[in-house]
Parts: sequence; structure tokens; C-alpha cells
Amino acid sequence: MKIVFATNNKHKLKEIRQMAGDAFHILSLEEVGIREEIPEDHETLEENALAKARFVHSRTGLPVFADDTGLEVEALGGRPGVFSARYAGPEKDSKKNIQKLLSELNNIHNRKARFRTVIAFIPPENKEILFEGIVEGTISPKPAGKEGFGYDPVFVPAGYTKTFAELPSSIKNKISHRYHAFARFTRFLDEQFTTLK
Ligand code: IMP
Repeated sequence: MKIVFATNNKHKLKEIRQMAGDAFHILSLEEVGIREEIPEDHETLEENALAKARFVHSRTGLPVFADDTGLEVEALGGRPGVFSARYAGPEKDSKKNIQKLLSELNNIHNRKARFRTVIAFIPPENKEILFEGIVEGTISPKPAGKEGFGYDPVFVPAGYTKTFAELPSSIKNKISHRYHAFARFTRFLDEQFTTLK
């Protein structure tokens, strides 16, 4: 089954392809000829994920999924959440986002945080469906590691002592928010779309 992953983020594409293995043929936006920036300026992860999936579905007619992710920090009342990419400004700079996060958490003892991903899927016959994935963890005092992307250098998943950026992708991709959302999505595909595979 060929499915388009509606993202311009090469890190997300790599992670999803590693998770999918040979089970699904994941097409990139480049492979379906879409080079535009897809707007993601809504108030919830769900709306953003749906907007990205609809944008690509309306142009290709192919089955498509998109993910939207937020880092929800307990001591900040769930911020930056849906605004995670633009937290430190419209340029969506991960280093600046991390700096701002660490300065907001300066002297704050409660470092609990979670990543939440919502995957929106639009199958060939148009019925939209959402899948959620969460990983709990804490924000480290300073960045560490070179793997991954975004907030990975400061996110320590529960049960580990290293950040996502210090852990190999083989571990991140078995425990992450994106993994849990994608696992739910692929279970759904296995049940509903056996004839298309
Ligand atoms: P979006 O889903 O692309 O809108 O991502 C929102 C923000 O969260 C961006 O700053 C991303 O870099 C960051 N982000 C998304 N997924 C991850 C992840 O798996 N690890 C770390 N940061 C992430």
C-alpha cells in the first residue's frame, strides 16, 4: 500500500520509514511533486495534523497521513504544546526554542514533560481518522546529544537517564510519541486495509 507522509521534515520522514520497515511504502512529498510549505497555524495538534493531511490529499487523491507534535511541560501549564515549533519565534529555530525552554524552567524543580503526537489519516474514500501517541519524561538541565532533532537534546524519556538525542534512533523509535501514534495507525491499517496491502 502506498501512503504519502505529509511532512517537509526529513527527520520525521526518516523515523517513520525506520518504523514502517517493509510493511508500507511511504512516499515523501517530494516524490508526489509537492514542494510548498504546508500551513500549520491552528490552535490544536489535531487541527494542524488534519490540515496538513487535507492539503496533500486534495492535491494528490492518494491515501495520506500527517503528524503534528507538541512538547507539553507540566510546570508551564502544558506549554509550548501546539506552539512548540514557533516557541521562540517564527523562524522555528530548535536551538532558540531549547534556550527559551531552559530559561523558563530555570530554578523550577518540576521538570515533568511529555511529547504528544497526533497522526491524521485520510484513506482513499476520504474518512478522516486520528491516532495519538504520548511519551512521558523530564526536561534535562542542559542539552546533550547529537541524534534526533527539535527538543530531543533536552528530553529524557521516563525510565532512561539519557536524552533522546543521546539515545540511538533504534531506541527512540521504539518508545517515542511518534512510535506510539504510528503503531496505532498501522494496527488500524492492518485491520481495515488488508486488501490494499
Ligand atoms: P511539528 O510537529 O513539526 O509542528 O513540531 C513541533 C515542534 O516540536 C518543532 O519544534 C519540532 O522540532 C519539535 N518536534 C517534533 N517532533 C519531535 C521529536 O520527535 N523530538 C523532538 N522535537 C520534536
